[in-house]
Amino acid sequence: MNLILLGPPGAGKGTQAKRLEDACNLVQLSTGDMLRAAVESESEIGQQAKSIMERGELVSDAIMIAMIRDRIQEVDCLNGFILDGFPRTTAQAEALDNMLADMNANLNHVIEMKVEDAILVDRISGRFSCSNCGAGYHDTFQKPVVENVCDNCGSTEFSRRKDDNAETVALRLEAYHAQTAPLLPYYDAQGRLTRVDGMAGIDEVTRQIMSIIETGSWLT
Ligand code: ADP
Ligand code: ADP
Ligand code: ZN
Repeated sequence: MNLILLGPPGAGKGTQAKRLEDACNLVQLSTGDMLRAAVESESEIGQQAKSIMERGELVSDAIMIAMIRDRIQEVDCLNGFILDGFPRTTAQAEALDNMLADMNANLNHVIEMKVEDAILVDRISGRFSCSNCGAGYHDTFQKPVVENVCDNCGSTEFSRRKDDNAETVALRLEAYHAQTAPLLPYYDAQGRLTRVDGMAGIDEVTRQIMSIIETGSWLT
């Protein structure tokens, strides 16, 4: 089963993708995480992407398409993957359709996580993650059970993303509305789009997504 989680920055894509990885034996493919790793390792792609990401703009389609094309052919993707952060433009969506067709693979569900912009700003400004295992947290909505200790691995080191500041968030939301939102009608026309209420609590969003995976819809 191959899924896309589609939604603005801070919608909860990464949070839900991590839960689905365990629940459904799928692999999360986060292009944001891949790019941050490239920046960290100072690879050629990382060097090209760094300032673009810091400005809240989108990295070029050519780079992103090549990155996903390589990644989805690895063996761990055979049982299925959850795309988190890709595609973000119509060109990326069309390229994905073509690569899946070439691989005789299918896109089973595109799940829109709908959240209002004002809520996204709060979500992003309170976001932090475990530096050791990558588990995601929030200052208000998802605190570690024991303060400053990761629930998942016990680490006491946490980090915040450089681009999670109010100014960059506004630009990232603008990029979402201008460049990514057109994918909603694109996938709706293919009959693959279903929406969940991304403003609900984390467990309720998981329940809605699981219901789509199991029955094709969460309203029924
Ligand atoms: P995305 O991957 O879409 O950018 P994240 O999964 O990183 O979003 O979530 C953004 C922030 O909001 C994180 O700090 C996360 O803990 C928190 N969060 C995620 N889902 C919810 C939710 N349904 N309600 C409240 N906070 C949430
Ligand atoms: P968020 O879900 O909070 O928007 P991501 O971690 O998905 O953040 O992405 C961080 C940054 O990486 C984006 O602002 C953008 O610069 C770049 N990026 C990630 N995925 C893509 C993509 N598919 N196309 C272009 N740029 C991307
Ligand atoms: Zn951890």
